[in-house]
This record gives sequence, structure tokens and C-alpha cells, in this order.
Amino acid sequence: MRVIANRDLCQGHARCEDLCHEVFATDAIEGKVVIVQADVPTALEDKARLAVRNCPEGALRVGRSGKGDDA
Ligand code: SF4
Repeated sequence: MRVIANRDLCQGHARCEDLCHEVFATDAIEGKVVIVQADVPTALEDKARLAVRNCPEGALRVGRSGKGDDA
């Protein structure tokens, strides 16, 4: 599983980081999302999906590893 962020939509709530800091962080200057590891390990998939679902701006999405398609 792969995660993709649209930083144009991100408003820097850091909810993704709070829910899954292993995959998501926010940058120190703009406060926008940074993907720490785009290819999400199987053990973190549920946490990463929860974070994607809880982004209030719809700035995150899930794709298949290596393709970027919607899963
Ligand atoms: S939860 Fe969404 S809007 Fe907030 S920092 Fe993460 S990607 Fe950006």
C-alpha cells in the first residue's frame, strides 16, 4: 500500500501525524504534511488508512505500492 499527499489541499491540522506518525509528519516551516514513508509496511496499513480517512481536507489518498492507483 502506498500513500499520496496533495500539499495544495493540506491545511496543516497534523491530524494525520497524530494518528500515524510512522508514516506522516508535518514540516516545520509551513506545517504541511510530509510523507515519511510512502510505501507503508503491512503492519502500519490500518493506522495509515485511519489517518487518510480522518484528513478533514481530503488531502490524503491510498494507492497500490509502486503504481499510485487508488486501492
Ligand atoms: S490531516 Fe490532512 S490537512 Fe491535516 S496535516 Fe494531515 S494531510 Fe494536512
